[in-house]
Amino acid sequence: MDTVTESGMAIVMALYGGIGIIHGNFPTPEDQAAEILKVKRFKQGFVMQPYCLAKDSTAYDMMQIKKKYGYTGAPVTEDGKVGSKLIGMVTSRDFDFIDVDKKVQMSTPISEIMVDASKLILGRISDSLEVSQRLLKQHRIGKLPIVNENGQLVALLCRSDLLKARDYPNASYDSKGQLLVGAAVNTRETSKKTVELLVEAGADILVIDSSNGSSSYQINLLKFIKETYPQIDLIAGNVVTRTQAKILIDAGADGLRIGMGSGSICITQEIMAVGRAQATAVYEVARYAKTRGVPVVADGGIRDVGYITKALALGASCVMMGGLLAATTEAPGEYFWGPGGVRVKKYRGMGSLDAMEEHAVSQDRYFTAESDQIKVAQGVSATMKDRGSCHKFLPYLIRGVQHGFQDIGVRSVEQMHAEVGEGRIRFERRSPNAQLEGGVHSLHSILAGSEKVGVGL
Ligand code: NAD
Repeated sequence: MDTVTESGMAIVMALYGGIGIIHGNFPTPEDQAAEILKVKRFKQGFVMQPYCLAKDSTAYDMMQIKKKYGYTGAPVTEDGKVGSKLIGMVTSRDFDFIDVDKKVQMSTPISEIMVDASKLILGRISDSLEVSQRLLKQHRIGKLPIVNENGQLVALLCRSDLLKARDYPNASYDSKGQLLVGAAVNTRETSKKTVELLVEAGADILVIDSSNGSSSYQINLLKFIKETYPQIDLIAGNVVTRTQAKILIDAGADGLRIGMGSGSICITQEIMAVGRAQATAVYEVARYAKTRGVPVVADGGIRDVGYITKALALGASCVMMGGLLAATTEAPGEYFWGPGGVRVKKYRGMGSLDAMEEHAVSQDRYFTAESDQIKVAQGVSATMKDRGSCHKFLPYLIRGVQHGFQDIGVRSVEQMHAEVGEGRIRFERRSPNAQLEGGVHSLHSILAGSEKVGVGL
């Protein structure tokens, strides 16, 4: 989803052993492929997308970066972006004495404040993290710009990050030691070209994206991708019935994505009257897919840790989350203050009018009758409360699922599936009274935040 997964989210997902699927709603396929490359080029400890200033920026622009994001320095590049020629660097030492109340000082060109690139200690992209770290320490500097052989900025290494550097023992790596990443494509003819770019950029898996995957469009694309790029793992979908699952497995799908209308921003069940209860869909499709040796992803409706445990118990090999990861630091978009003074980020369905209007690719999909351009929304646009960083939230989800498994008495997803299959782990209908009993009850009041102890939210 375009408010959940771009490179920042995909990197953190892979660091904790998951995988991010880069959305397909960019203005161009090249933009989507560029996000894949960012994940593949990620080096632990490097900031791959630092906020930069352009050569015609002023002291005011630096102050804005400091005010908005809290960063006390920024590289200055030719056009103000990563990837263009590095011409200097501004740090707090350079602008500490600028008086924010003096207009004249705020309009000072950045070129007069910055340290010129020729005088900077620079790191090379070919250097390992250890070599770059040593440079930082040796020269006692706070920030080390990393450049390529043409002097273009590719990353930034910060002293403050070194101090909090951690290990990620469960990170998902490919055979080259780069993080795993996937990408979503739609079923339009243009996707063949997009797939080529995505595979070239290094995508490990592709997800064919549609509310109903059992269409001739999807089957054609699926066969094309499997024939052209047999090395790529392909997840097809979405499906909610055994029949749909059979069609896609017969066509060559390596995995299936299950869910229709269960996402928190999805209105497909209400508006189209099409969909299926998610638990039933996961259970039914997973049981069938298992007979064909194909793993399934439960997509949608994951509201908290327990829903992940439920989906795995119902037969899913993994879950796909949108809403639960929206409004984390790593989700795309900026925070803003919502009603009631709450810090929020935008979260929207890919079938919302908002998403349809913003991107040509999306419009291409959603004009249900292209001649008259009538749009039928299948999702809404919303905001979500700031969830903090995935560096805290993902470990919370992982630990929560581990506790769930421990409480059930299984050591692995495979064991869970086996014991459900053998009837040792059973599902029981819970009466309304049992549901009340299973929730928090009979208390005078709940102390604010106590139900989330340990989440750090
Ligand atoms: P889609 O791309 O499958 O279909 C959109 C329209 O394009 C349909 O009218 C379809 O028939 C047409 N189309 C697709 N491929 C075509 C081709 N090759 N030639 C001609 N016409 C073609 O998209 P969708 O089902 O509307 O879903 C789009 C997005 O919204 C996806 O991201 C999907 O995951 C999400 N969504 C999800 C759910 C859900 O519950 N999981 C529900 C609704 C939407």
